[in-house]
This record gives sequence, C-alpha cells and structure tokens, in this order.
Amino acid sequence: MEKFDVAVIGAGISGAATAYTLAKAGASVAVIDRFGPAAMASGWTLAGVRQSGRDPAELPLAMEAIEIWQTLHQELGAPTHYRRKGNLRLARNAEEYEQIRTMVRGQRELGLDLTFLASNDDVRAIAPAVSPTILGASFCASDGHADPQATSAAYMGMLDRLGVTRIMAEAVEAIEVSGGKVCGVRTVERRIAADGVVLVAGVMGNELLKPLGVRVPIETPMVAVIRSVPIPPVLEQVIGVSGGDWAGRQEASGRLRITSGALPWGGAMEIMETAAGARPVIRPPLSSLREIIEKLAFLLPGLDATPIEECWAGLLDLTPDAVPVLDHVPGVEGLVVGMGFSGHGFCLGPVTGKILADLVSGRSPLHDLSAFRSDRFSTTPAAGRLELHG
Ligand SMILES: Cc1cc2nc3c(=O)[nH]c(=O)nc-3n(C[C@H](O)[C@H](O)[C@H](O)COP(=O)(O)OP(=O)(O)OC[C@H]3O[C@@H](n4cnc5c(N)ncnc54)[C@H](O)[C@@H]3O)c2cc1C
Repeated sequence: MEKFDVAVIGAGISGAATAYTLAKAGASVAVIDRFGPAAMASGWTLAGVRQSGRDPAELPLAMEAIEIWQTLHQELGAPTHYRRKGNLRLARNAEEYEQIRTMVRGQRELGLDLTFLASNDDVRAIAPAVSPTILGASFCASDGHADPQATSAAYMGMLDRLGVTRIMAEAVEAIEVSGGKVCGVRTVERRIAADGVVLVAGVMGNELLKPLGVRVPIETPMVAVIRSVPIPPVLEQVIGVSGGDWAGRQEASGRLRITSGALPWGGAMEIMETAAGARPVIRPPLSSLREIIEKLAFLLPGLDATPIEECWAGLLDLTPDAVPVLDHVPGVEGLVVGMGFSGHGFCLGPVTGKILADLVSGRSPLHDLSAFRSDRFSTTPAAGRLELHG
C-alpha cells in the first residue's frame, strides 16, 4: 500500500494550495480528486480576489491572500493572470446607497482601505462603462481578480515539480480511521495510507464526513455564469452589487464573465466527458441567464449585445454564517477539514492552504481560527446569508 505523510482529498484551489504548502515544507503528499483539478467550484468561479465586504473574521485572511496573490505567479512559475484593478460594489437605489456607505465605514474601522464613491461621476471616473443611473459605490483599489484555470494549472505544475502524487479521476469512498486516529483513505481503486488527511472536497465534503458522525451544515445554492466571446477592454474592476444578486468582470482574455446571485438548485448534475476528462455539469435555467443579462444591461449599458460563448452553473457551499470551517475534525486525530467557503473561497485559497497545512502538521496557524471552528453552529442562527461573491 502506498504511504504518505498527508492525503489531500480534492484538487480545487484549497486542495492545491494545501498540497503545495505541505510539499514545499518537505512532506510526502498525495492529492486525490474524483474528477480533476478545478473540476468544481474552483473552475466554475468568477474568481474575484477581494477583501471588501468580508466578514470581520475573514478579513485578515483575505488581506494576507491579497499579498500572496501579487507574487503567486512567480512562486508557482506560471501565470495566474492576477490583476489588481479594484472592486466596485454599486448602489442601484437609495437603500443600497446607505447599505454601502455603512459597510464602507465598518470595513474602514477594521483597517481596510475602502473608499465610498458618493456620486455617479465618482464611480464613472473609475469605471466609465458603468451606467449613469448608478448612485454611488464602494471601491477597494487593492482588490482584483485572477484566472481560475491558469491558477489551477500553475499549482498543478508546481505540485508535479515538488513530487506530489496526483491521483485524478478517482473518487475517495471513505476516510479510514483506527483507534480514533486517521490512517488513510480508500478510493474506488485502492487504499492509501496517510498520517494526516485534509478534506477539501467542497459541496461533496459531507459525503465523507457522514460515516464519521460529523456534518458541516451547508446549503448548496446554484450560481449561473455566462462567459462572452473576447471583446476589446471595457472593464478593469470586478463589479458587484449590494445584495450580491449579480457580479461580473472582464477576463484577461477579453471575455466578460458574469454571474447571477444564489439560486435554488434542484439537485440535477450530469457527468460529462470533456477534453479534460469527466466533469460535473449543472445546466443553468434560461430564466437565470435572462436575469444576468437584464442586470448587465442595467449596470453596464450596451454590453448586453456581446455574443455569448458559453454558460454554466456552479454550486456554493454556504454555511449558516457564510464563513468556512477550517478546523480539526473533533474525535478524529489527524483529520482536518476546509469547507463552507460560501462563495468566496477562491481568493482565500493560498491562505487556506497555509492554514490547513499548519493544522494537519500540528503547527499553530498564524491566524485566529475561532470563527472557523466546526463546533460553532450549535450557537449560530440557521439562515445562510450570501455576500457578494465577486
Ligand atoms: C459561480 C461561482 C462564483 C464564485 N465567485 C467567487 C469569487 O468571485 N471569488 C471567490 O473568492 N470565490 C468565488 N466563488 C467560490 C470559490 O470558487 C470556492 O469557494 C472555491 O473555489 C472552493 O475551492 P475548494 O477547493 O474548497 O472546492 P472545489 O473547487 O469545489 O474543489 C473540491 C474538489 O473536491 C473533489 N471531490 C469531491 N468529492 C470527492 C471525493 N469523494 N473524492 C475525491 N475528490 C472529491 C471535487 O471533484 C473538486 O475538484 C465562486 C463560486 C462559484 C460556484
């Protein structure tokens, strides 16, 4: 049986960054994914890299992440197409205007350099494509966006160079535990021994926790995404709205990538063969696409004439308080979980990786993780609240 220091379940950005941190420190690591790199949320994502609008507990993690993103491409030796061009959260009416003004005040008190743009002229001085009907906005100049596929490829290339064993297109069926301590995983094809296991399987994480009597409470709403053909540069920032019911940006490729808010998901998921192997596919309803396009026409007039190249839907792992669980699994020594990123875990990925690597290695993480404990839900309200995911 193959034996590793750590087995990482999931090759999204959380798993990739965790494996990278561990392998860089000299650990022997296996990354196992039932589909392949960035097959789920880390590929479906809008890939905004933002601090603004974060929960106070998450803000220090996002701030560290932004520092890492600036040089991540150098560290990984391949492009991430990270652009630090800012994030605008637009106010469409008087109520949103006040919400955003209050949010800016609160975030500034937490140390974030966030500006309230009080007039349409101020907003359009930064983003001329924005509609003259927009009343104001928050602007965080140090926010930005990256390319999810390029980032995943950059991590995978580095994992290969560091000698990480990548086992793709192979589902983990069980986390193996003996005497209260994790001892490895069982996939559909083999047993893999490991002293530590990191579970970063996104919306599917609970399937592997259930036999251990553990559950991270998540809802799994759907977000629809439209990607256009490449067009000339019109938009540098990530654009969101108060309430989180729309977000969008222009990729480095020139394509517009625009999303709905969180919508109910009926559970339909197809597994389709693609050039990259089998991938889970969720088909967005026509009504969700109509809504995205209507809001695009309202927020960024004229861009709704852009031809569509593709569309898809992705799932969020939304916790009751919309921040993730980053913790040891109670009662199972050596098992660490990172899930419940609630629509904003792409930005955090590089820091999530450091935190989970520290936890599984027995080191104390540099951040206060009390807000991310798995046992907190017994005392928090059950209703999930989604923040802007741009
Ligand atoms: C439409 C959309 C827009 C978003 N926009 C943003 C944004 O702008 N900014 C931001 O920061 N975040 C955003 N997010 C959220 C962000 O993309 C996610 O929080 C992040 O990608 C989560 O990464 P992950 O690695 O934890 O999970 P995932 O990327 O979902 O990876 C989990 C992996 O585990 C694998 N897996 C599952 N079960 C098993 C098993 N049994 N065995 C082996 N492998 C398994 C899956 O195949 C998958 O590859 C968005 C999400 C969506 C869907």
